[in-house]
Amino acid sequence: MSAPVLVINSGSSSLKYRVVDAERAEALAVGLIERVGDPKGGRLTHTVDGERHARDVAVPDHAAAMEAMTDAFAAYGPDLSTLDLVAVGHRVVQGGARFGRSVAIDDEVVATIEELADLAPLHNPANAAGIRVAREQLPDLPHVAVFDTAFHLSMPAAAHTYAIDRDVARKHRIRRYGFHGTSHAYISREAARLLGQEPEATNVIVLHLGNGASACAVRGGESVETSMGLTPLEGLVMGTRSGDIDPAVVLHLERTAGMDVADVDDLLNKRSGVLGLSGHQDMRDLVAAAEAGDADAELALEVYCHRLRLYLGGYTAVLGRVDAVVFTAGVGENSPQVRERALADLEVLGIELDQQANEERSSAARDIATPGSPVRVLVVPTDEELEIARQAIAVVGG
Ligand code: AMP
Repeated sequence: MSAPVLVINSGSSSLKYRVVDAERAEALAVGLIERVGDPKGGRLTHTVDGERHARDVAVPDHAAAMEAMTDAFAAYGPDLSTLDLVAVGHRVVQGGARFGRSVAIDDEVVATIEELADLAPLHNPANAAGIRVAREQLPDLPHVAVFDTAFHLSMPAAAHTYAIDRDVARKHRIRRYGFHGTSHAYISREAARLLGQEPEATNVIVLHLGNGASACAVRGGESVETSMGLTPLEGLVMGTRSGDIDPAVVLHLERTAGMDVADVDDLLNKRSGVLGLSGHQDMRDLVAAAEAGDADAELALEVYCHRLRLYLGGYTAVLGRVDAVVFTAGVGENSPQVRERALADLEVLGIELDQQANEERSSAARDIATPGSPVRVLVVPTDEELEIARQAIAVVGG
């Protein structure tokens, strides 16, 4: 029996949508509306049955974007009214300390998502706006919120607490929340399946390395540590984000370089990471430049992989026993060079990479450790939309 779910990711200037058949783990239609809110107009692309349709659309706001989406389904298919959708699953970035799991959306849930906007000012208002119009336009379907942070709410206090004045932290809800939770949940479960083990009996370190990147230590199916914090800026080196730095760098820049809050925000989130170090944001370009002898690119790659190794060591200490290190997302799934540099000489941690398996190109989930490696090394393609669809079904099904 098929169980299609409409998955919606409503961003500040875009609306991504996908109809996912969760039973068959396949997408029936995929769409993207860009430049929502741009008075000059936006662009819609809608792919169904391998055919890509594109057109200009007037999308001054999220309501217009949602209408453009319904029009696209009517024009190009599949027909939403005959699909028997079981739910609409909404991606929400910040669930705060309130949401430790996916929930059925009611007015109070929408209000809480809006109320958490101070923690995710770029994302939660756009997520909530998308939910409001989707509930208006598809009132007969159950709507479910799936939070990027929820998987990490299981982190123990020692892992999620910043060592700052407790009253200040409490008043401003400052703690580590973590992100990419949908991906970490999906990948840790898929990894257990690949290992032939129950998730409840499996310990893994997941490295979600995309343009944004985070590590997660998963013990028995629960997140016990992750590298992103109050915001997605903390942790690993990313495409354009610095990851961990001494917070005094911010003070120094404000005191001595004449930079204000917006300047530092822009510097650390958009002009740092491997882009800031080398001029290359895309890992393919960075690796090619490093291999061609570009010293800045070489250093950027070394800084990126050095940070990964620090986290691997730390998370091994946290978990005690590690069954597998799992690579996922754009870089993790596709860059043998990053995997090789990150795992070189880690026999001390029980990690032995099979060079040949690492270099073989494949889009399948696979084990690339040597036969004798005590810790397995897995590459598992992530599928956040499928996970959102599955969670929506789990909520709707009770
Ligand atoms: P994501 O955020 O998961 O979509 O990942 C996007 C990033 O993956 C891009 O910015 C690239 O740096 C990286 N990427 C995609 N394809 C490849 C590839 N074939 N080799 C290395 N890196 C890749």
